[in-house]
Amino acid sequence: MPQIPKQFIDSLKGVEGFDKEKFLQTHVRKEAVTSVRLNPAKATSIQLPISSAVPWCNEGRYLTHRPFFTFDPLIHAGAYYVQEASSMFIDHIVRQLKNNLPASSNVLDLCAAPGGKSTLLSNALPDSFIVSNEVIKTRVTILAENISKWGSSNAMVTHNDPKDFQKLPGFFDLMVVDAPCSGSGLFRKDPTAIDEWSEANVALCSQRQQRILNDALVALQEGGYLIYSTCSYSKQEDEDVCDWIIEKFSLEPVNITVDEAWGIVEVHSDNHHVPGYRFYPHKVKGEGFFVACFRQPNATSDYYSYGASFTALTKTQRAIVEPWIKSPDELEIFKQKETIIAFPAKWKEENSVVQKTLNVRKSGVAIGTIKGKDLIPHHEFALSHLLAENVPFVEFIEADALKYLRRQDLAIEDTLKGWALARYNGLNLGWMKVLPNRVNNYYPTDWRILKP
Ligand code: SAM
Repeated sequence: MPQIPKQFIDSLKGVEGFDKEKFLQTHVRKEAVTSVRLNPAKATSIQLPISSAVPWCNEGRYLTHRPFFTFDPLIHAGAYYVQEASSMFIDHIVRQLKNNLPASSNVLDLCAAPGGKSTLLSNALPDSFIVSNEVIKTRVTILAENISKWGSSNAMVTHNDPKDFQKLPGFFDLMVVDAPCSGSGLFRKDPTAIDEWSEANVALCSQRQQRILNDALVALQEGGYLIYSTCSYSKQEDEDVCDWIIEKFSLEPVNITVDEAWGIVEVHSDNHHVPGYRFYPHKVKGEGFFVACFRQPNATSDYYSYGASFTALTKTQRAIVEPWIKSPDELEIFKQKETIIAFPAKWKEENSVVQKTLNVRKSGVAIGTIKGKDLIPHHEFALSHLLAENVPFVEFIEADALKYLRRQDLAIEDTLKGWALARYNGLNLGWMKVLPNRVNNYYPTDWRILKP
């Protein structure tokens, strides 16, 4: 492991909870902590080396060692997400805020790729409308892929600059800003971050964090909550940004109840005594993380109500699509170009507003396209919770599931014909089309396992 810079250690002198010797010790021996978050909506028997539960997250689990995740079909089915344990603390915060949020909230995950917090939010707030945004184009694909695998129908993926959210003043009840940062919290997990660390970069990140917040905070509703987090230990990116939030936006700091036994250090910013929560690897089983929470007490103007803007399905198209869908009456089913999309009807208006305002990359669940009298089902539909129960399926053993995920040829001993789901351990992996003399594997080419 590269040497941790002296300037970095010096900069943390006096920061609450920082203990130079203990901190350095945890970085000499690389003690890898691997954790996953289970998908409660896709409960199945998983074969992971689970050692214990992550205390601040209902679905978080520590593993005894890091398995080779790629060869577990269940990760591709969205049964769990590999996520750093400290950052799962967002689950604890959201559970605490839940009683003060509307039953059906509008939630923004502003810096969302690759989707750890967004998938967490979709479980923690299942009745909410979630916008997962990523500004960097190359990272939007992995974000959309992870959200599709998770099966959430309440999440929309957008590709926008934070300032585009100024077009939605007061739209969101909860905003999560998991900001890009200098990354010192990941030194142990990703030693390349050590070489990239510099005081100049910390200063640059701090400015960028303020710019992101400044650009997007107007989209927070009166009474709404902001969760601000980084994986940096630097005060300039953590407590100092919290002070700036109070000075610039007059938000109210929110206290989070923390069990002392968890080892999380509660700190306070210098000027406004904003409570923040620091995770140090010598105190918690996890990597470095900082988080603080705020409430917007000031009125922001309500968003403008637009009308719906999607192409409706014809009666014939509905008759083709509906038999495939569970509870179609609860969904808004529409067409975007040739793709049929379903979105929970209760968020029709919110969906419409976001569609008209932002650069939407994914919305609701893609059901498929209609060809003649048939539906060609979309891969995302197989992974969602919207499928009717009578859709045919084939339950694979592990070796065949991996063949399917590699997009290899398949042979099935079944009398099925036409579209069928490939399933493993009761979870859907994707579609196949069973023809008289062969089976066509429809696993998406871009997602297939390439490792031999
Ligand atoms: N929340 C994510 C999760 O839990 O999986 C991790 C987010 S990561 C810490 C920060 C994200 O901010 C990255 O996806 C990065 O591409 C994005 N980002 C980088 N520059 C940005 C900017 N200027 N404005 C908004 N987001 C930015």
